[in-house]
Amino acid sequence: MQVGTSRYELVEFHFHRPSGHKLDGRSYDMEVHLVHRGLDGERAVVGVFMEISERDNPVISKVWDYLPVNEREEYLVDQVLINPAELLPSNRSFYHYSGSLTTPPRGEGVKWYIMKHPIEVSEEQVAKFSSLYRVNARPVQPLNGRVIQSSNR
Ligand SMILES: [Zn+2]
Repeated sequence: MQVGTSRYELVEFHFHRPSGHKLDGRSYDMEVHLVHRGLDGERAVVGVFMEISERDNPVISKVWDYLPVNEREEYLVDQVLINPAELLPSNRSFYHYSGSLTTPPRGEGVKWYIMKHPIEVSEEQVAKFSSLYRVNARPVQPLNGRVIQSSNR
């Protein structure tokens, strides 16, 4: 990811249910976080809301094929190719603020980029995730004077 002149490498992505952010007071069914790290160690997270629609989301299907059977089980898989850009909506307008991570360690100094437009997932896909992780989002935090910027494209 490139923001201005700063470049970030994608480190990992993970999912929350329901969304960890609200847009105009509204939660979404799920949210994906794409966690990036800059050359200076700075963290930047791209958040994408996930909204239930009629169709399966193909990239989510691919990831969900490898969900663990139990919540605490972890295993490595070989030769699975995911294009994380497919987790982004086609309209790339976003909100931006500086805050903390929503999961430990919650140190400050994280740049958040929240996509204004959701991607779509099917009800079955949300159900599959929630059979493992019922609720794993932190309650929405007050802004505490933080400024939210909005991209204008
Ligand atoms: Zn997260």
